[in-house]
Amino acid sequence: MTTTKKHLHRIDLIFKNEQDCKEILRNALARSNQEVINEMVNSGLKGRGGAGFPTGLKWKLTAEQKDKEKYVICNADEGEPGTFKDREILTRVPHKVLSGMAVCAQIIGSKKGYIYLRGEYRFLVPNLKKELRKFHDILDELGLDFRVEIFMGSGAYICGEESALFESMEGKRGEPRNKPPFPTEIGYMNKPTVINNVETLAHSYTILKYGAKKFRELGVKDSRGSKVFSVSGDTPIPGIYELELGMTVQDFVDDFGDGDTKAVQVGGASGFLVPRKRFGKTTIGYQGKLTGISLPTGGSMMIFNSSRSMYNVLNNYLDFFEEESCGQCTPCRVGCQQLLKGIKAVKRGEKPASYLDHLLKLTDTMKLTAKCGLGQSVANSFSSIVENFREEMIY
Ligand code: SF4
Repeated sequence: MTTTKKHLHRIDLIFKNEQDCKEILRNALARSNQEVINEMVNSGLKGRGGAGFPTGLKWKLTAEQKDKEKYVICNADEGEPGTFKDREILTRVPHKVLSGMAVCAQIIGSKKGYIYLRGEYRFLVPNLKKELRKFHDILDELGLDFRVEIFMGSGAYICGEESALFESMEGKRGEPRNKPPFPTEIGYMNKPTVINNVETLAHSYTILKYGAKKFRELGVKDSRGSKVFSVSGDTPIPGIYELELGMTVQDFVDDFGDGDTKAVQVGGASGFLVPRKRFGKTTIGYQGKLTGISLPTGGSMMIFNSSRSMYNVLNNYLDFFEEESCGQCTPCRVGCQQLLKGIKAVKRGEKPASYLDHLLKLTDTMKLTAKCGLGQSVANSFSSIVENFREEMIY
């Protein structure tokens, strides 16, 4: 009997060649703000940058603020290792992102938007400016008082954290703020701000065009819709793929692996490394009451085959975190340095293998006490690599 391999369902919504910005905006304007918010809430769309906050709720909370000045910011500071999907979205369908920003602006009552663009993506600026000119003409035609500007980042990973991003835009060091208050109340220039990832805004175009129901039909339980994945590493087909949420890592490896996959890093360096024995038990989606075992991700899927040293992989991640820690809080600043020094010492035989257990305890502390997601999430890759590939860490 021959068995047919089941392939993942490739979705073509985000990159579909559609130019309906005017229609999307007109339709949104014809409806009440509450109706549009309901559509977004009912879609189940959650932030695609990685944190997974419900988008409709974010728009609703900001709309409820009484301030006259509000902002819409598109977070295009894509810097997570292994993630390159937002670059592609801004290259191929920037008008969808702009449409999402403009509809959000109408709902919350904002006249000003920004695209915070990663410093290394400067080469996207000429095309984005061309798109902006066309888009502003559409806004003028519809009588909408909203303008979008590009703000260039300067290459710091931490500025992808929303409050560090605001600080950087305000001309200060890019360091995370204490939370609460959240941006929906106090964001850029201390005004209520919706800050959404590039992909999230592009999905809002899909929802506004096809309706919440079509979006909800994709995905599972707490994880609705499709997601754009950046696929890299030991795969014969690296690239950008839009896939349904709710697949297992095994489904993913069956399609994208090279037949010798040993582990998959889900969610970039700040995500989790899934070893082969857990491929079938790990679902990609947002953690929620209904989802069961699942891993959230900003969209990075790095595939490692058996030729890779997981010690080298972890060393690279820690190098990255040590370099990118903003240094504001001790658990992260000193913790990253100690983890890097510690794994090197164990690998060289200068410390016993049991020292790895002290380092695991240190990551527990960092998870609890670091001020922002950078320091808190170092524990994810550290513990998942050390616990599953301990033999590769020791002398
Ligand atoms: Fe800065 Fe790290 Fe502390 Fe975040 S956790 S505030 S990046 S030192």
